Amino acid sequence: MEKIQMVDLYNQYLHIKEDIDNAILECIESSQFIKGKQFDQFQLNLAEYLNVSKVIACGNGTDALQIAIMALGLEKGDEVIVPAFTYAATAEVIGLLGLTPVIVDVDYDTFNITVDKIKNALTNKTKLVVPVHLFGQCADMEPIIELANQHSFTLIEDTAQALGANYTFKNGFSKKAGCLGNIGCTSFFPSKNLGCFGDGGAVYTDDNYLAEKIKMIASHGQSKQYVHEVIGVNSRLDNIQASILLEKLKHLDNYNLSRQEVANFYDSALGNINNIIIPAREKKSTHVFHQYTIKVKNNQRDALKKYLSNQGIPSMIYYPKALHHQKAFASLVKRGGSLEISEQLCSEVLSLPIHTEMSKNQLQYIVDHIIHFFYEN
Ligand SMILES: *Cc1c(COP(=O)(O)O)cnc(C)c1O
Repeated sequence: MEKIQMVDLYNQYLHIKEDIDNAILECIESSQFIKGKQFDQFQLNLAEYLNVSKVIACGNGTDALQIAIMALGLEKGDEVIVPAFTYAATAEVIGLLGLTPVIVDVDYDTFNITVDKIKNALTNKTKLVVPVHLFGQCADMEPIIELANQHSFTLIEDTAQALGANYTFKNGFSKKAGCLGNIGCTSFFPSKNLGCFGDGGAVYTDDNYLAEKIKMIASHGQSKQYVHEVIGVNSRLDNIQASILLEKLKHLDNYNLSRQEVANFYDSALGNINNIIIPAREKKSTHVFHQYTIKVKNNQRDALKKYLSNQGIPSMIYYPKALHHQKAFASLVKRGGSLEISEQLCSEVLSLPIHTEMSKNQLQYIVDHIIHFFYEN
């Protein structure tokens, strides 16, 4: 059996080695390293995949969030509601821009922000809400969109973990994660569901006015070369990364399917263990399982993690601390209600290996050892 890893990028590469190698070589041969034809084509293909009018690729997912927020022209002291249980990047850029992150609790079952938590935290300074579609499934967005319409705040979705997930509205209409609010942001960090061979990210929207601003901000605030309209940043997806993503985008749906198969295997093997709660599904979203995250009850999480590690099984704690318990954010964030669920999750969550290259043997080995830990230890 091959060594078990949290992600296996090398074996994923081997399946499409020829296409990837050729794509990279073509970039080198053309020596168009920045803004080449692969860059243009990738933006078009991703827009088509997402069914959105404009994709602006950029340097990474954190930049994507920063650029998207910059495009809104918010003012110092404006409040931005974010979940307390998320990756720090979401709140970091809000702080960097002089805005106030208002952190709210998440739903215990799905790990996602909910309309009720947002409602509790609304003030007349609330200008923006950034739902994070955590671990691969969309937050329940329809009521959140209704609330946004009532209170005129903007919605930027952090889709770094959920690219390719579908959300279905009450009327039966489906849209891709990130296309539900005003702006979607994603990351192509190598281990993300659509990953490149370095850093990459994208912002996408159906709003042409915002799209123009976003494009300008990502490129030094230029409306055209050497015409700087606003203060921007330099954030680019390079052409080699774009050429890799062009190839891998063709496989994204299959990659997500294989993640779902792994999740189903875990579900049926672990669903009846008393001390484990398997991940719940949002009713209206598909789940693309960026992570398969269980909750371990009765303070057994750390012991289980250690036991698995001794058996050669890696696992990760996403996330060990809620935002308000991080030194960088503790004094910056404003609490938007109780945060006890986020705190509880930090002590219970454990993410198991999930990726596109897992074998049945590996999966069986993992679940056998989890069962062994609880019943034969
Ligand atoms: C990965 C990630 C980001 C940041 O993306 P980078 O490309 O690493 O900058 C932001 N938000 C979430 C939820 C993420 O998982």
